[in-house]
Amino acid sequence: MIQMTGFAQEPDALRVGMIDAAARVVGSHHYILGPEVAAFEAAWANASGTKHSVGVASGLDALEIALRVLDIGPGDEVITTPMTAFASVLAIIRAGATPVLADIDPDTALLSIDSVARCLSSRTRAVMLVHLYGQARDVGRWAAFCDDHGIELLEDCAQSHLAVSDGRPAGTFGRVGAYSFYPTKNLGALGDAGALVTDEPALAARAASLRNYGQRERYEHVEAGLNSRLDEMQAAILSARLPWLAAFTERRRAIAAAYRDRLSHPDIRLLAAPRMPSEHVHHQFVLTTTRRDELAAHLQGQGVASLVHYPVPMHRQPALAGIAHDPEGLSMSDRHAAEVLSIPCHPQLSDDDVSAVIAAVNSLTTS
Ligand SMILES: *Cc1c(COP(=O)(O)O)cnc(C)c1O
Repeated sequence: MIQMTGFAQEPDALRVGMIDAAARVVGSHHYILGPEVAAFEAAWANASGTKHSVGVASGLDALEIALRVLDIGPGDEVITTPMTAFASVLAIIRAGATPVLADIDPDTALLSIDSVARCLSSRTRAVMLVHLYGQARDVGRWAAFCDDHGIELLEDCAQSHLAVSDGRPAGTFGRVGAYSFYPTKNLGALGDAGALVTDEPALAARAASLRNYGQRERYEHVEAGLNSRLDEMQAAILSARLPWLAAFTERRRAIAAAYRDRLSHPDIRLLAAPRMPSEHVHHQFVLTTTRRDELAAHLQGQGVASLVHYPVPMHRQPALAGIAHDPEGLSMSDRHAAEVLSIPCHPQLSDDDVSAVIAAVNSLTTS
């Protein structure tokens, strides 16, 4: 079976690097907010093109803390997409703000700027732009849009590690960006982890306080924060994995290029190609077809795994019943959720695996 993730096929040198990192932490007797966290934060700030990175416990927490350091909370509206992980919307709710859903552009499955414009109100404080599947497309245009409307841009970079748009790293277009290092992300820990990035020292300091119960000095709590500390073990693992990220990203790009070149079936469509290779880090490679469930079953029969990102858009989630949205509806999100399928695109796929995936997709019978 060709799987959606390739942990078992990772290089030996990476495995040894992680075991050495873990041994270092075990021997250090320092487990929370120590030198490993500081070292990874510095390395991640450098890799992601920002001055400061603050390690936290998850991508969800990174988004919540990002909103809170921007003073976004009760009474404020944040516009985002229905086609994302639940965490994007949950972070807005946890910050005390009100999520508003805009529809997507069917060519990219990313937020439609026209739909976002219809969702603006006097209470809108931010757009949370999700770089879905690893696409950081045309982010400069979003920064200009938010500037024009006097609102913040918050990039959800959970799927877009190392993406660069208009010559600028994703996550740096707004004042603060948020990352997840969930194990299956392009850079993942061996458990939960996340980070905020910012160029503003005051925002970084407030995020560092919020992740640790809102403490300024030990036992002096200046606001009601959370327990969202990145631990030394996950930080050490992330430091061991980070040096591999650039090459793994290039491998994802090569696989996606092969798919774009050689996938060919009258019933299957691909998203628009990125303007520049740097704008896409291919966290997922998705195709769309009205025969999605049939294709998934066919692939399974050919020994190829697949997944749906995401089968239930946010406005169809029971927990979000009644959520505010574009007055013209969210029909593009509904259609995408019904038609999208992710096929294997991880860096450990061999060229033979890639050819096998392509042959499996192309051999779906024509209807
Ligand atoms: C994974 C993910 C998150 C949440 O990250 P966690 O670390 O799982 O909390 C948020 N947004 C998007 C787009 C994601 O893919």
